Amino acid sequence: VVEATETQMFVIATDTTFAPFEFQDVNGEFVGIDMDLIRAIAEDQGFEVEIRPLGFNAALQALEAKQVDGVIAGMSITDERKQTFDFSEPYFESGVVMAVADDSDISSYEDLEGQNVAVKTGTEGATFAESIKAEYGFTTTVFEDSANMYQDVLSGNSVAAFEDYPVMAYAIEDQGLALKLATDKEAGGSYGFAVAKDTNPELLAMFNAGLANLKENGKYQAIQEKYLGASA
Ligand code: GLN
Repeated sequence: VVEATETQMFVIATDTTFAPFEFQDVNGEFVGIDMDLIRAIAEDQGFEVEIRPLGFNAALQALEAKQVDGVIAGMSITDERKQTFDFSEPYFESGVVMAVADDSDISSYEDLEGQNVAVKTGTEGATFAESIKAEYGFTTTVFEDSANMYQDVLSGNSVAAFEDYPVMAYAIEDQGLALKLATDKEAGGSYGFAVAKDTNPELLAMFNAGLANLKENGKYQAIQEKYLGASA
């Protein structure tokens, strides 16, 4: 007798728009390094995924409430988040930069005095901006997603935005966004896949095992090159 085996299905939450990690292609499909990576790991480890693009902060809240099984969203591994989430091995190095309009004179945190800055709720960039805003004398406006945060700088309501370096660089260089990088990147956590603390340990183990296999067989490198070019 052959027993029917059911393939395990996991619900994975992600950001709405965070290219080159997750974004919609011309057909409305969610693509990007994170999307290709989680699908390739699922294939390697024999499970299925359902992707839910909830937005970054909403994805973390859904995970904490155990409404989803995991989050992959360019999510930085931080000590504070480790109290609520368990992380995979790191899979991408990041860090926060300040971006300004491409014709702006602002080139340092000192230049932010008396100005307004756009941040994205729940992110490392927002945490960093909040940590220096009293010292440099600026105010912040908080947005739900990266696109609206950039728009606030383009429209002149904010003079700068704080965003992850690889995402900001991609938006400027590959998507033609009329912003420029104004600072070197602040050291930040690497990206990891997350599950709720002490929940779904087998999913975390499969992610790590799959990631190791994809690094070994060249698929991880191929996914990076697909979005970042040969320099990846
Ligand atoms: N890496 C940043 C963080 O974890 C931003 C992630 C995002 O905006 N998707 O806070």
